[in-house]
Parts: sequence; C-alpha cells; structure tokens
Amino acid sequence: STPLIEVKGLQKSFLVNKGWFGNNKYLQAVNNISFSIGKGETFSLVGESGCGKSTTGRLVTRLLTPNQGEVWFNGQNITQLNDNQMRPIRKEMQMVFQDPYASLNPRMKVKDLVAEPLLIHTKLSQGERDKLASELLEVVGLNSFHAERYAHEFSGGQRQRIGIARALSVRPSLIVADEPVSALDVSIQSQVLNLLQDLQEQYGLTYLFISHDLSVVEHISDRIGVMYLGSLVETAPKDELYERPLHPYTQALLSSVPVPDPSMARERIILKGDLPSPVDPPSGCRFHTRCPACMEVCKTKVPVFQEVEPGRQVACHLYDEEVMSKN
Ligand code: SF4
Ligand code: MG
Repeated sequence: STPLIEVKGLQKSFLVNKGWFGNNKYLQAVNNISFSIGKGETFSLVGESGCGKSTTGRLVTRLLTPNQGEVWFNGQNITQLNDNQMRPIRKEMQMVFQDPYASLNPRMKVKDLVAEPLLIHTKLSQGERDKLASELLEVVGLNSFHAERYAHEFSGGQRQRIGIARALSVRPSLIVADEPVSALDVSIQSQVLNLLQDLQEQYGLTYLFISHDLSVVEHISDRIGVMYLGSLVETAPKDELYERPLHPYTQALLSSVPVPDPSMARERIILKGDLPSPVDPPSGCRFHTRCPACMEVCKTKVPVFQEVEPGRQVACHLYDEEVMSKN
C-alpha cells in the first residue's frame, strides 16, 4: 500500500556566513536522503546531535521547504504546497518536542494548551474543546481535574503527557516526536515510551521518532535510519539493525549501547577524531575521517545509498560489489 511518508533525495542547506564575491558558506544540514514510512509504522532516525535529524523532521512536516528533493504524504506530493494548501495536511501531522516546558506556554491553562490545535483546525466551541481536552488528559494518563491547572505545576513526565495530548487532539495520522524523552529520568522515559506505543495501537498512529540514543528507540521502533553529518548511512528493520549492523558508523554507535547481560556486551568501538563541521564536510564518504574500515576509494568517491539485502539500505563501499571487486 501507499506509504504515509515518502521522501526522495531530500536536501537542505542553511546560509551561515555571507562571504565576499558570492563566496557564501552553507551548512549542509540534510544531504540527499530518501526513506519511506508505512502506515502504522514507527520509523526512528538516530544519530549524534547536529546530524540533521531534526531538520529532517521539519522537512517532513513542511515547517521547512527543501532545496531539493520531494516530500510525499499519503500519495500526494506536498513539497511545494503553500501555507493555505498545507493547512488540512498540517492537521494530519503533529509534533511532540523534547522539552515540554519550553514548548508549552506557562500562562495557559492545561485545557487550553491541549485544545489549542483544535482552535486552529476546527470550529468546535469552547465547551466542546474543554470536554475533549478533559477526555484527552485521561487518555494520556492524567486526570480531567488537571485541566484547570498550569503547565509549571507538573513534573517533566506529566508535561510530556500534556504535549502528547495536545498533539493527539486533532486526530493526526502522523506524529513526529523529536527527542520526546531525552529530558526525562530513565524510569519516566519508559513510561512515556509505553504510552506512545499504547496510543499508536489505539489510534493507528504512524511515528517518525527522532533520537540521539539507540537504546531509547530499541523497543518502540519497527525500522531505524542512522544519520551521520546530514546523510542517511543505513536503514534496516529494528531487529536486524541491532543483531547485525552493516555500516561501520552504526557498528560504532551500537557498541556503546548497554546490554542487560554483560557477557553479551559488544566490543566497544571508539571512533577517532571529532565530528567534522557540516559547513565543510569531508570529501567522498563523509564518515571516512573517522571510519575504522576506511579505504583509499572512500576519500574521493561518495558511496551510493542502496539496497544491499531485502529491506536494508546502506551507503558504504564495503557493500558495493563493483568497488570491492577492484580492491
Ligand atoms: Fe568507512 Fe569507506 Fe564505508 Fe565510508 S565507505 S563507511 S569510509 S568503509
Ligand atoms: Mg510499533
């Protein structure tokens, strides 16, 4: 069936420095990435901060417009739609952010915070919105009497529940959750992740889940995409990625994820060097300056992101038969 989200060759740069004679400096935030998300699926984008995950989330929801490439939503190309044309689609795509405290207005009552998207997208009366807000608070594990309070009266985990209720209010089909549990204690993290999973089943939601932490996305994800310096380097079904990561960067990331049984611990791979600047990314494979498996060809030739096994895509010369046959 038609995927809910399909992005093709997405690219986004930001001007960081206006140089002389048109010699401008650009930050290449997202560099030619492609993926799709099926209906009801959870696709997670993982990578270090600054790798382009959040920009990708904003491109998918069209809060940003790409320089190149296309975004398709439920079979419709939405890349160039204007604000007016985007309005009915915006209702279908809601975001949940990392810091619910920063994203929730402290001067608004919880019921108004939760119902704010309804004010934008529906013609419901104040009474109808209040009623829905109370119901939604119970759906996310809070109480309807919390409706009259203010966000600052709640703990971080409760505030994230309020943020989720707000996102749910307009019955979206897609929720883009950008580091939704990163600001929370580990014990609270799993409660919020469980809630997200329950809601997915209940409402048939599709998730684009963004995290810097592979251990956070392990249970919630169906498929995972790993990003490095603006590029997607590997996508795979969750189990296959954790059992047998193919890309050297995924292998390094995964080697630092704690496992319950220490005897099963993976050998730790420490990457050399620092993360290069996305303003001046390395030539060839962007990971070549830090890759333990780097070959001569990697310094000049960009690896193609391609399917190497059914359902698994990798951008690495190690999996390119043409390159390897010459080596
Ligand atoms: Fe490492 Fe080369 Fe593969 Fe890049 S293409 S990840 S440098 S082996
Ligand atoms: Mg799921």
